[in-house]
Amino acid sequence: MAEIYTPGHGIVTDSLIMHGIVKLYDVRKVERVGERFKLMGSFETPDSGTLSLLEEELRIYSKHPEVLSSSSVLGKVTDSNVNVSVTPKWLGKLSDALTEMEGDITDVYTVDHKDKLKEGRKGKQEYLLYLPLSFVYGKFSQSDYSVTAKDYSVCGHCFALSNIGLIYGTAVVRYSGKDKTSVTLMTIIPDEEMDRADLLLAQRFVQGKSVSLYTELTLKSVVLYVLSVGETLFSFGEHSPQVLVWRLERSGNFMRSLQPMALRLGGVLKKVAEIKADYPYFTNIVLKLSRSEDGAVVLDRLADIILFNGDPYPALRQLSLFLRKNKDEVGELTVKDLPNFAKILTKQ
Ligand SMILES: [Zn+2]
Repeated sequence: MAEIYTPGHGIVTDSLIMHGIVKLYDVRKVERVGERFKLMGSFETPDSGTLSLLEEELRIYSKHPEVLSSSSVLGKVTDSNVNVSVTPKWLGKLSDALTEMEGDITDVYTVDHKDKLKEGRKGKQEYLLYLPLSFVYGKFSQSDYSVTAKDYSVCGHCFALSNIGLIYGTAVVRYSGKDKTSVTLMTIIPDEEMDRADLLLAQRFVQGKSVSLYTELTLKSVVLYVLSVGETLFSFGEHSPQVLVWRLERSGNFMRSLQPMALRLGGVLKKVAEIKADYPYFTNIVLKLSRSEDGAVVLDRLADIILFNGDPYPALRQLSLFLRKNKDEVGELTVKDLPNFAKILTKQ
């Protein structure tokens, strides 16, 4: 079994590259090494089905750009992007980068890959990491609230793999408001280590999840939303993974990315699954709350209880007020049911 390392472009990019490699190669195990990952498996031949599907969609897009929104895989790239004007260039570069993905990557991802290929800020490579793929982004990247020029360049492998990781390894929650757009991305990564079955489970869980909302949710609420909506009942092996969530915002020409948040998933998943088992309308409550600003405030409090064992009473008080304001009904929940719902929430 061969061993390779993600290059060390930061936790977000490395998580995406790791998921890209898991999607394309026979990865047996992934270990966390700080903000990088060590992957064990066979890296000789990439999965041709995944590559040809991407190439096919890129070919169609180059002739008919309008199909992008309905495209099954490339749509995820557009959904994640707050700066729509770069889309043609981005997808053009993805086409170029995919031509480099034919062969063996065992000798590509050695521990010194990044230095060897002179990647990074002021790097010597031809592919720029766009904002959703990293925290640094051309002239729009921002530190300490001042906009500075920081081109972060990587090789074709890093670019192709981080895109594939974005498509197959993240959930995307997009908010479009009047003056602001934001995109929150979420991925599941090992806290210590994960085996192949768990890694594929993590990808299956997030990959189809790309939603657009008209209310902006907090990072915590996005995690609760993604965990609650759709399939929840699954559990990971002996090591609890982490969920990594990060956000990009745009208002006018100003763009920024927020610090990512990481939290352990094990206990949280179990809790959400138990709540759903005891209260089958839980998903409806989450959906309903996510549709209004008042509701989003309540959802944030619920996320506090479920993700961080926060005090349940402020959330329940807010929920009760919300219920009274909304004709006594939130996704089948009524004021009368509230004590029962409280019992379920505080059971664990
Ligand atoms: Zn590279």
